[in-house]
Amino acid sequence: MSVLVVGSVAFDTVRTPFGHKEKILGGSATYFSYSCSFFSRVNLVAVVGEDFPSEYRELLMERDINLDGLQVRDGKTFHWGGSYHYDMNEAETEFTDLNVFEDFHPELPYHYRSSEYVLLANIDPDLQLEVLDQIDNPRLVVGDTMNLWIELKKDVVEDVIRKLDILIVNDAEARQLTSEVSLKKAADQLLGLGCKYVVIKKGEHGALLFSRDYIFSAPGLPLETVVDPTGAGDTFAGGFMGYLARSGDLTPEVLRRAMIYGSVMASFNVEDFSLERLKKLQKDDIKTRFQEFKALTNF
Ligand code: AMP
Repeated sequence: MSVLVVGSVAFDTVRTPFGHKEKILGGSATYFSYSCSFFSRVNLVAVVGEDFPSEYRELLMERDINLDGLQVRDGKTFHWGGSYHYDMNEAETEFTDLNVFEDFHPELPYHYRSSEYVLLANIDPDLQLEVLDQIDNPRLVVGDTMNLWIELKKDVVEDVIRKLDILIVNDAEARQLTSEVSLKKAADQLLGLGCKYVVIKKGEHGALLFSRDYIFSAPGLPLETVVDPTGAGDTFAGGFMGYLARSGDLTPEVLRRAMIYGSVMASFNVEDFSLERLKKLQKDDIKTRFQEFKALTNF
């Protein structure tokens, strides 16, 4: 089963208390795809400029990520700059150079159009809608967003949420979208827009899954090494969605396990910059860390 993702493929310039890196590989679709590829095949939709190095493209292809939907346009690749302080739960955006994304319109290759699993990673919500319009009859649509788009285009973000089965946001975004302090009330309001589940990520403190009938809490695993949280949310979404697509089911048990697989993948990602940690990841590492998550809250 393959998952279609639209989002950013980017250069990131990142400063954390543990280092400063210029123009490393990033982007919401990049992190998502790489993480998801440990569970399912991925079809990627995005745009890069002519400056996008072929090594980065090969890195994605090595994991069997289909790049037929990755357009290459005249101009520069999207470039995001962000920094973190010792509380690394929230990134401070220093700049967002949309570059080739400014006049990008996704055109889905024909064989992408029948995709059953669709992940709208963080990108301009108008582009998320353009992708959905080109898909015939998706079985599961999951979406993410960020503070910039809620600030600039809240109405469009809400239009996207109305079309989702599952919304994934972080705690700050849930509060920004709903003007509620209580995450329970925020989730109820977001469920009221029509999606079936809302996932609220809380950085190092784990993540919550809300449905109309139950709540599930995935713990945050206390890690010794946290170097760069960039992409943690997208890596979470990759493990979560990849596992759902592989299972082909949406029972409460499957959703709970998907929350843990998402958390497992994010916990690896924060241990190094860019995709450095995920590049070394083996299937057995995933299994072992899944068990560590299980042991952490078993009583
Ligand atoms: P995350 O840490 O999971 O929230 O996402 C980090 C990634 O989002 C970085 O690699 C950035 O390149 C990407 N990003 C940052 N701002 C935007 C934006 N406005 N649109 C799309 N992607 C973005």
